Amino acid sequence: MADGTTLESTSPAAGIAPARFPFTAEVEAATAPIWNKLKSRVTPLEWRLHAPLIAEINRLKREKNAVILAHNYMTPEIFHGVGDYVGDSLGLAREAARSDAAVIVQAGVHFMAETSKVLCPDKTVLIPDLLAGCSLASSITAADVRMIKARYPGVPVVTYVNTTAEVKAETDICCTSANAVQVVEQAAREWGVDRVILIPDEFLARNVARQTAVKIIAWAGRCEVHERFTGADIAELRAAYPGAQILAHPECPTDVIEASDFTGSTAAMSDFVATRKPAQVVLITECSMADNVAVDAPETEFVRPCNLCPHMKRISLENIYEALRHDRYEVTVDAAVIERARAAVQRMIDLPPPAVPARYDLVKARHHVDVELI
Ligand code: SF4
Repeated sequence: MADGTTLESTSPAAGIAPARFPFTAEVEAATAPIWNKLKSRVTPLEWRLHAPLIAEINRLKREKNAVILAHNYMTPEIFHGVGDYVGDSLGLAREAARSDAAVIVQAGVHFMAETSKVLCPDKTVLIPDLLAGCSLASSITAADVRMIKARYPGVPVVTYVNTTAEVKAETDICCTSANAVQVVEQAAREWGVDRVILIPDEFLARNVARQTAVKIIAWAGRCEVHERFTGADIAELRAAYPGAQILAHPECPTDVIEASDFTGSTAAMSDFVATRKPAQVVLITECSMADNVAVDAPETEFVRPCNLCPHMKRISLENIYEALRHDRYEVTVDAAVIERARAAVQRMIDLPPPAVPARYDLVKARHHVDVELI
């Protein structure tokens, strides 16, 4: 495929000269293992554009002792092409903390970069686009959490990791979608109470409330990707693909969860496909997740309802390259905030890992109680 095709990098920043990277025989050879993995997902035309940048990014990583943390919602050329650690936000940050790299480039959104900084305060953490935000993280502020704590004294605050470092710093313990039920029950036991504040995702809170006897006080934050799925969408998919296994993320509304075959975190969904090898599957989550899981599951057919996260999609090979080349944009967090936020994350990390990835079985839900919405 080497044909001298050149790529002009499309840096959004003013004042940076565009770089030209030809698709040479050397590039083709260096990226051949990645191409072999991705050729079912990427066209040869696209590959001639991606491969020179992938080769250049991987060279810069070695030069700068950097690693790239690529979230499950990154596009396949990022996830499989340049990601050193791939997975969900917390798994990425934990891997980063274990790595010897001096620089972390977060191929994900801003709160994830903050979590990396909280867990790796001595490393330089870069995010390729400062505007890569999150509707959930921006639904709540540290002042909101202080208000909640004043309103519910003595009630532990459990915070989803999809929040800013300042919000984490105000809370007692963090959770992920994979361990939220376990963390809520642990917090209730430790504080000796029968109710827990679980913020900021309203739907995650509602779905957790169905799985536990602990009463849940919730905040009306939403993920703009998962809130768009409806029970009617699932019914339509069921009718169109009667044999398909439907897997949903717990940030989806409760009627979506009730109508699905399985609900779990992105890690639990990947695990489901890898271990059960369904003939046909629908992942009710962000679009790129199915593309990335499909690369390693050739025996499974993926039906792709597609809701894109506009924040995740701000990250590209082009701005990852620019981030590495110009050491930008560095994510900083106040030292006092780091200390308090890390305590909340560490409390969660110190819990014994669940024996199997959590699932939310709303068909057999033990509790049909509603949450108290703040
Ligand atoms: S998918 Fe939802 S929770 Fe994840 S970054 Fe996008 S808006 Fe935030």
